Amino acid sequence: MPFARILFLILILTPLPRAQSADESPSKTFRVWATSCAHVPADIRRGRESLADVIRQSEGLVKDAPAFEWDIMIDAGDLSAHQHPPGDRDGYELIRQYHAMRKHRREQIYNVPGNHDAPYYDHGAGTWFQKWGDPLGRHTEFSGVDSERRPFPVEGTWERYRFQAGNMLFLMLADRNDAPEPVGRGHSKDGRSGGYPAGAVTRATFDWWKQQVLDNQDKIIVTMHHHALRDTTIASGRGEGNPRYHGASGGAEGSSYLYYLIENDDPDDFQFISDAHVFEAFLDNFHKQHGRGAIDLWVAGHTHVHGPEDNWGDKTITETRWGVGFLQVAALTRHHGGSHPMSRLLTFVDGASTIKADVYLHDDSYEGNPIGWYDAASGTLPLRHRFVAPPPIKSLPPFPPGTRITDEPYGKPAPSRPLQNASASADLTQRWKTSGQGTLHLEALLKADKDNRIDRKPSLWTGDSTSALEFDGNQRMLVGSIKMEDWTDLTVSAWINTSKQSPGMRVVSKDNIGTPGNFMLWHDLKESWTMQAWDDKARRWQTASWHSHDVRRWHLLTGVVDSNRKKVSLFVDGQQKAESPWTAGSLDDSDMTDLVVGADSNNQRFGHVFVGMIHDVRLYPRALTADEITDLFSTSAPTMK
Ligand SMILES: [Zn+2]
Ligand SMILES: [Zn+2]
Repeated sequence: MPFARILFLILILTPLPRAQSADESPSKTFRVWATSCAHVPADIRRGRESLADVIRQSEGLVKDAPAFEWDIMIDAGDLSAHQHPPGDRDGYELIRQYHAMRKHRREQIYNVPGNHDAPYYDHGAGTWFQKWGDPLGRHTEFSGVDSERRPFPVEGTWERYRFQAGNMLFLMLADRNDAPEPVGRGHSKDGRSGGYPAGAVTRATFDWWKQQVLDNQDKIIVTMHHHALRDTTIASGRGEGNPRYHGASGGAEGSSYLYYLIENDDPDDFQFISDAHVFEAFLDNFHKQHGRGAIDLWVAGHTHVHGPEDNWGDKTITETRWGVGFLQVAALTRHHGGSHPMSRLLTFVDGASTIKADVYLHDDSYEGNPIGWYDAASGTLPLRHRFVAPPPIKSLPPFPPGTRITDEPYGKPAPSRPLQNASASADLTQRWKTSGQGTLHLEALLKADKDNRIDRKPSLWTGDSTSALEFDGNQRMLVGSIKMEDWTDLTVSAWINTSKQSPGMRVVSKDNIGTPGNFMLWHDLKESWTMQAWDDKARRWQTASWHSHDVRRWHLLTGVVDSNRKKVSLFVDGQQKAESPWTAGSLDDSDMTDLVVGADSNNQRFGHVFVGMIHDVRLYPRALTADEITDLFSTSAPTMK
């Protein structure tokens, strides 16, 4: 056995109550709640609020659950649960659950991302986590983190940051699952599914961490990362994670620990080392040279243990090696992979050179134990220095003003609206045909329609110097027949402004519901903004989709079919957001449906109705270049509302 086990001090006497009594000095104790793996979507789908529930338990708001004090929560990630990258719906649900806090504030939570929180790499490194986990407080409106309200200010980047509480330095390291395969989830065009559980950091993150450790040997140092180091806590040996705890995507042998080191994260020149072992080698060398640990604690999640006494690979949830204490703190979820929800509370006492690490069971599923402290797994760990406590944290409202908190339940999307009946309508194609500038002049045509020849028409919204079609969910604007059978390329574009996020809302399309047709620019049934075109060579829809909740102001959607580049693409606000292959030589206009704005193309009964405003619809029989689309965005914006 190459390392010493920690000696547990099992409490024989009745444990002291954790809640602070009034005559204790509140400044003398500092409590770090260490959590991981809430996997919010997996639990909320089954009706359990994996974060809100445990927060309420800690704050004494749940009957029969013992309350406890905490000064900060450090969370090791896996806030999401999907085998695909998370979306804004998951972000809103996360913040809705944090909003359960009554006695704490959002900024007392310090997050790092887990493997499930990563996007595809072409969507930008750490994008979802930066918006919703937001250690730097750059997206306060979404994350609820205001950097000014941090009790201990954060320095660094989303990928690696530090903060100090008393004489304790926290080094927070992100997992980088937004990387090419096998390290990460790959490119969106491949659409791979899986957790890609093996851990990864960049060389730059390792170098930063090492320097911080060397420069701060006078402090207590705690590192948090989603993954354990190799051969430390439970199941962290090579090959021990899969299949008992983790899937095989991205390398089964390293699924339970920090396995990859990314030398270059540029996808075009991606370089990495498997089983890199650089942290372990550094800690080992330091320990050999100095006869003491280089840091005090490494706190990780990711491996959902089967209860607090789980032991796998002859390793448990608390271990010491190289003079460092290692803690496994997962998981808060009950339903992702199936576990007994638990977390750990680390109690630091001013002047003391040991800490107490307790386990809290968040439900009563583990061997008949009640909700609360599981004392058999409590332990004491040594520190390299005596703890100097920070001043007590002042109380502030839980969230800064301006945070968007949804009260919408995270559930199945509402069904799209029922079909509407329609009568014959005027042909509106003439001005488009003669002007040649792309625009359909719909606002002008609507204004001119004094004798109501346009059936089921939207109302005309007029702003300062602009106007738009305003749809209430019962209307459409049937433009008419535009023959496209010899179009090899197409660009369709429209400004939209909607607060509705219902599935199945069409902006512009030439397609009847139920029969594959020509093209659609719409908010699809999976609630993504989508450009799709029927590829009659591949016999399928080619779909370019982008998911966002953030459309409560004007945005320009532009869809392009380009037979020369063999691509269907979607641009939002002049920027390309998604792309898919295209094999046909021209658009499929074989069923000769009408071009319609705000609904599908059926003549008598229409559906997929839009709710909100649409402005300046354009249609071009060619593929606009990226530069032309950027120009269109900057020159055609409606007056902002
Ligand atoms: Zn997890
Ligand atoms: Zn994980």
